[in-house]
Amino acid sequence: MASEEPAVAHWLFGDQLGPHFIDPARGGPRRDVPLLMIEARGVFRRRRFHRAKAHLILSAMRHRAAELGDRVRYVKADSYREGLEAVGDGPVTVHHPTSHAALGFVRSLPSVRVLPARGFLVTHDAFTSWAAARGTKQLRQEDFYRWVRQAHDLLMEGDRPAGGRWNLDHDNRQPPPRDVTALGVPAPYRPRESAIDEEVRADLDRWSRDGDVRFVGEDAPRAFPATRREALAALHRFADHRLATFGAYEDAILAKDATMSHSLLSSSLNLGLLDPAECVELAETRWRSGDVPLNSAEGFVRQIAGWREFVWHVYWHFGDEYRDRNVLRHHRALPDWFTELSPEGTDANCLSHALDQVRGAGWTHHIPRLMILGSFALQRGWEPRAVTDWFHRSFVDGYDWVMVPNVVGMSQYADGGRMTTKPYTSGGAYIDRMSDYCGPCRYKPSVRVGEDACPFTSGYWNLLHRHRERFEHNARMVQAVRGLDRLRDLDELLAQEAARED
Ligand SMILES: Cc1cc2nc3c(=O)[nH]c(=O)nc-3n(C[C@H](O)[C@H](O)[C@H](O)COP(=O)(O)OP(=O)(O)OC[C@H]3O[C@@H](n4cnc5c(N)ncnc54)[C@H](O)[C@@H]3O)c2cc1C
Ligand code: SF4
Repeated sequence: MASEEPAVAHWLFGDQLGPHFIDPARGGPRRDVPLLMIEARGVFRRRRFHRAKAHLILSAMRHRAAELGDRVRYVKADSYREGLEAVGDGPVTVHHPTSHAALGFVRSLPSVRVLPARGFLVTHDAFTSWAAARGTKQLRQEDFYRWVRQAHDLLMEGDRPAGGRWNLDHDNRQPPPRDVTALGVPAPYRPRESAIDEEVRADLDRWSRDGDVRFVGEDAPRAFPATRREALAALHRFADHRLATFGAYEDAILAKDATMSHSLLSSSLNLGLLDPAECVELAETRWRSGDVPLNSAEGFVRQIAGWREFVWHVYWHFGDEYRDRNVLRHHRALPDWFTELSPEGTDANCLSHALDQVRGAGWTHHIPRLMILGSFALQRGWEPRAVTDWFHRSFVDGYDWVMVPNVVGMSQYADGGRMTTKPYTSGGAYIDRMSDYCGPCRYKPSVRVGEDACPFTSGYWNLLHRHRERFEHNARMVQAVRGLDRLRDLDELLAQEAARED
C-alpha cells in the first residue's frame, strides 16, 4: 500500500483499546479515519480459554466500541480475514500487533500498513540499539532495567538511582507477617458489571450450549477492568491504598489473601487500557510526595519498566522458534486435573490453592505462578510448550508475547538460560518460608522420602539429579547440585519419584 494513500480504516486489535492507540499526535490514525474492530469467534473455538478471560476480552472490546460510537465499525466474524472483507480492498492501517502470528498475518496482506507498536515505554529500535551495544554479552533484565530508568528518568536523582541503589529486592522479599490470615490492606478495585457484560454472558452461555466453544474455569462476576475509566479507577485505588505495602510483601503468599498488595493491573495493561508510562509515573509521584516508601515504588517500577518491557522485547528478539525451545527435553503431558483446573486432583495444599485461584479468577500473583504452578511443571518434566499453552489459556492477562518468555524462559528454563541465570524452582522450604500453606498440608516440607514427603522437596532433588550434568556447569547451581552427594536416601528418593503419579 502506498504510504501517501489515505487509509479507509484503522484496525484496532482487541488488545489496543486505550486512547494512546488512536492518538494522531503519537503516530495514530487521523481523527477522520474510521475505525474497525473485529470480534473473531474462531479464536475462542481453536483453544479452550478460561471463561473469565473470554468474558473480559469481549466485554472490553464491546465497551470500547460503544464508547467510539459511529466512528467504529464493529464486525463479528469467524476470522480476522473474514472481518477485513467488511472494509473491501481499501488501504487499512494497524498498530504493530502483539504476536508473531498476528504480525505475520497483517504483513501478508498487501492492503494493510503496519504502524509502530504502542503500549510500551521502549521502542523496538531503542531496544535493538541497546541489545547491539552489548555485543556478545547476554541480555539481562537487570541491566536493561537500569538503562530504562536512566533513559526515561524514572526514580533518578541526577545520574544516580533514587536512594543510591538500583535494586531494592533485598527489602522486598519478606515472608508474610506471622499469625495473620490477611495482609489487612484495603481490597483492590472491583468493577460493576454493565448491560454489555450481561450480553457477553448470554453469548458465552449460548456458544457453550451449542457446543461451538468450550471453556475452563468458573463464570464469576467480572473482576478486572473492561474500560479505560475502570482501569484508571483501579490504578488510582492501587496507588492510594495498596502501593505502600507492595514492596515488602511482593513475594509473600497467604492462603486467604490471594491478592495481597498486588496491583491486579496486568490485564488492563495488556488490553491496552492503561499506558505503562502513566503507571510508573504515578508510582514515582507517590514516592516523591512521601506517600509510599521507595522500596514499594521501586518494586512496582521494576515490574513494569523492567520485567514487562524486557519480556516484550525478548519475545521479538528471540524469534518465533523460541516457543519450541526444550533444552531439558521435557516431554510429559499435563495431567487432566491440572488442565481441567481441578484443585481436588492434588493433596499438595499449595498447589491445590493455586489451582483453585486460577479456576475462580484466572489470576494468581507472580509467586504462585512461578514457584508453585510453574515449578511443579518443571519438576515433573511437563512439555514446556504445553505448559505455555495452559498458562496462556487459563490466565486473564495471558497473551502470546508475555506468556512465551515467562513460561519457556523464566519458569521452565527450556531456553537453557537465555532469560534467567538459573532455573526458578525450590523445595518445600521456600514455600514454607514465604506462605502459610505448609502447616495444614498433609505433607511436610522438610521430608523428602516416605508418606509425608513434600512433592516439591523430593521433586527438587529429583530435577537436580536428572539434569546434574547441565546444572553443575552453572555457577549459580553448583552448590545446590553438590547437595545431592550429601543425601543418603537419594536412591530411595529417585525410586519414589519414578513411581509417583502426577
Ligand atoms: C509462569 C509465569 C507466567 C506469567 N504470565 C503472565 C502473563 O501472561 N501476562 C502477564 O501480564 N504477566 C504474566 N506473568 C508476570 C506476572 O506474574 C503478572 O504480570 C502478575 O502476576 C500480574 O498481577 P499484577 O497485575 O497484580 O502484578 P503486580 O505484581 O502488581 O506487578 C505490576 C505489573 O508488572 C508487570 N509484570 C510484572 N512481572 C512481569 C513479567 N514477568 N512479565 C510481564 N509483566 C510483568 C505486570 O504488568 C503487572 O501488572 C507471568 C509470570 C510467570 C512467572
Ligand atoms: S508441604 Fe510441600 S506440598 Fe505441602 S504446602 Fe508445603 S510445599 Fe506445598
